[in-house]
Amino acid sequence: MIINRFRHLADNRPDAPFLIHPDGASLSYGEAWRRCARMANLFRSLGICPGDRIALQAEKSEASLLAYLAAMQVGAVFLPLNTAYTLNEVDYFLGDAAPALLICRESDDAAMATLCSRHGIAHRLTLDAGGQGTLVLQSADQDGEMEPAHRQADDLAAILYTSGTTGRSKGAMLTQDNLASNAEALAECWRFTAHDRLLHALPIYHTHGLFVATNVCLWAGAAMIFVPQFHLDTLLRLMPDATTMMGVPTFYSRLLADPRFDEQLAGSVRLFISGSAPLSPETHRAFARRTGKLILERYGMTETSIITTNPHDGERKPGSVGLPLPGVSLRIADPETARVLSHGEVGVIEVRGPNVFPGYWQMPEKTAEEFRADGWFITGDLGHVDTDGYVHISGRAKDLIISGGLNIYPAEVEALIDAVPGVAESAVIGVPHADLGEAAVAVIRVSDSALQEDAVLAALAPLLARFKQPRRVCIIDELPRNSMGKVQKKALRERYAKLFA
Ligand code: ATP
Ligand code: MG
Repeated sequence: MIINRFRHLADNRPDAPFLIHPDGASLSYGEAWRRCARMANLFRSLGICPGDRIALQAEKSEASLLAYLAAMQVGAVFLPLNTAYTLNEVDYFLGDAAPALLICRESDDAAMATLCSRHGIAHRLTLDAGGQGTLVLQSADQDGEMEPAHRQADDLAAILYTSGTTGRSKGAMLTQDNLASNAEALAECWRFTAHDRLLHALPIYHTHGLFVATNVCLWAGAAMIFVPQFHLDTLLRLMPDATTMMGVPTFYSRLLADPRFDEQLAGSVRLFISGSAPLSPETHRAFARRTGKLILERYGMTETSIITTNPHDGERKPGSVGLPLPGVSLRIADPETARVLSHGEVGVIEVRGPNVFPGYWQMPEKTAEEFRADGWFITGDLGHVDTDGYVHISGRAKDLIISGGLNIYPAEVEALIDAVPGVAESAVIGVPHADLGEAAVAVIRVSDSALQEDAVLAALAPLLARFKQPRRVCIIDELPRNSMGKVQKKALRERYAKLFA
């Protein structure tokens, strides 16, 4: 279990760095354990028991990360909330998850008091962006020792709400073993050791920054260079001290857009990892040309943590998310009939393994819909497995375009559009069309302002079957993305809904 691993490091390598801040100050494993223990003793003194939920909506800071680990020490279920959620949204999550304790920003405290009394949440603590607030204040005089609560492998460790890309976020329940098994597999796959320093600029309310990054480092005894958010100058300054980096694809495209980012700057980083959204083959290749290094792309979900990864030592294929992790089984099935498809055929990706969550919090029907009768989890992502066993994602089932009765997989068309000179990025969506039912429309951001719709269509004509060719190409200043770099196709579909009306 993650917490036992943390304790082992605190006992055996107490002086090794756990967090390194942008100003160079660091927090050792031993001190991190003591600070967590103080928080955990505060939680216990409030009456928090194993299985109780602890919700947190606060900026990324040392204390907000330690609150996650302190929740694990007392055996509570950690429930981080996106810092962008409005009061209205938080109201829903608090009602849904019924936490025993809410940790919130000081500036939200008055408004949260109302929500807490409405939902019968007995305790509230505050934490501001600088790491101050009643959480830290009241922890200060607590005991720095703590015997972690005894937990079983299938006890809940966290409820993590999904990103809400396809609809309202669902609370994915994650067990102790979901987290631990994935951390162990990834530390091995990505060769993490106690010598690693991971450049961490991701948010920590999402599985990527919270579980993938933190748990892998805890598993290996590595350090995190802990940056509050993606800030180009800060990343460029700190990169020479890092040995690894995890990011969403937009981190990599933003680095590439800056001429200061070069082979020398990237020199000490042995591994750049990308996920949460598709990394375009163009970005992958441009990164290799600039730095001489191949970004390692992996694929995961809130519900499953990481499912596949490109190999550390073998071939890293641009446009592929790699091979299933050890212990994880993956198959491609017909979305309608559930028939298992063979190599090369596109269908829905289904998975099974110790990483797969037991279900959505208080949504037994939704849970039942997303599992097959034989226990496989239906990811909702479409893709195929190539002859080498590598998985290729063609988009989400909900984004599949059916035009004139024929299937168009957005990812295939997007990859070709992205390769057209002058195109910076693209999103292909289905838009209502009187004749075709749905027509494919490409929404693009250009790097060459002279590029016109006709030129893009002409470039695609020889590359794609007629039915897959977009009917229109619309140029936009910026593709709408969420904080994890995911394109908000729902917003685009709404925006262009009347294009053919
Ligand atoms: P919701 O389930 O609420 O609609 P979401 O699926 O975006 O939101 P997450 O759990 O954050 O919430 O994201 C998981 C999804 O992200 C995957 O199902 C997949 O569609 C996408 N994804 C993650 N990594 C990759 C990748 N490397 N390439 C392509 N897609 C990816
Ligand atoms: Mg999802």
